[in-house]
Amino acid sequence: MSKVRIGIIGYGNIGRGVEAAIKQNPDCEMAGVFTRRDPATVKITTEGGKVYPVSELAAHKDDIDVCIVCGGSATDLPKQTPEIAKMFNVVDSFDTHARIPEHFANVDAAAKESGHVGIISVGWDPGMFSLNRLYGNAILPEGKDYTFWGRGVSQGHSDAIRRVEGVQDARQYTVPVEAAVEAVRNGENPELTTRQKHTRECYVVAKEGADLKQIEHDIVTMPNYFADYDTTVHFISQEELDKNHKGIPHGGFVIRSGATGDGTNKHIIEYRLKLDSNPEFTSSILVAYARAAKRLADEGVSGCKTVFDIAPAYLSAMSGEEIRAHLL
Ligand code: NAP
Repeated sequence: MSKVRIGIIGYGNIGRGVEAAIKQNPDCEMAGVFTRRDPATVKITTEGGKVYPVSELAAHKDDIDVCIVCGGSATDLPKQTPEIAKMFNVVDSFDTHARIPEHFANVDAAAKESGHVGIISVGWDPGMFSLNRLYGNAILPEGKDYTFWGRGVSQGHSDAIRRVEGVQDARQYTVPVEAAVEAVRNGENPELTTRQKHTRECYVVAKEGADLKQIEHDIVTMPNYFADYDTTVHFISQEELDKNHKGIPHGGFVIRSGATGDGTNKHIIEYRLKLDSNPEFTSSILVAYARAAKRLADEGVSGCKTVFDIAPAYLSAMSGEEIRAHLL
């Protein structure tokens, strides 16, 4: 079978992760990195791999089976994914949950018109966590869903702290409240407020002479980001931040707690992720879904899909015969 030729659109954390994941999948190959920056300034790790200006993407129509669009969810993906779906099969990791219906409609229109497949919001949340919420709901209709995130770095919250007056650098960890997780695992089905589910830990490097009390106050009272949580602020040096907090770990739990029969038999379904690198893990999922996009396109399918629409066998490099023999 011919390899899945993957174009990497944008070379940030996810772009680099996709490049690394392709190397672990012998049925896939990198067809090039496409960037908005000067290609000469973008150094990639694939031997013999090429970096092109994204403006030249259309010229590679015959060399690429699937483009993995690796831009940011805030402003890049809403424009890039529908645009690229006019020419290519696409996969992205769009994670602004509230805007998924709008993004789906835009990609669907573009992909249907051009006869391509688009798979959006692929990753772990949205993505693998979404699938596990769906499985839990379908199997245990009488029950409750719980999602806990962390312990892990929230890029959005770290960025928000960096915008506070007097802050030089920062890292924010989202931490699930252990007692809440335990209560859920025990089948107690608690009603939990935002504050009861997660705490927020901030490691902050202050600028020379900055007012630390004011910085702490500005962080813990910040609406939408911190005001609804118990937040702790630790001031550390830049050296300490660079040494101990430079990774991008994340993870969490999706738990469905339900009952069957007359309600006396309780069941807990738990899916757990503990990730050293959020972008490398997310990218590994994107590559598996790129394989699925190619297979669907080869079958003549077109339009926008999410993880809910993709049958698991399409993700595996193994044949149907192999997965039935080894994994069923
Ligand atoms: P990022 O590192 O900020 O990269 C985003 C884009 O910024 C890149 O495609 C790149 O485009 C540009 N860029 C990167 N480094 C640059 C630099 N040094 N100078 C100028 N431009 C640069 O973002 P990311 O960490 O890869 O994350 C991308 C998105 O993935 C996030 O917005 C998030 O929504 C999503 N995500 C989803 C999940 C999930 O579970 N669904 C998980 C993690 C992340 P060019 O090469 O074209 O310049």
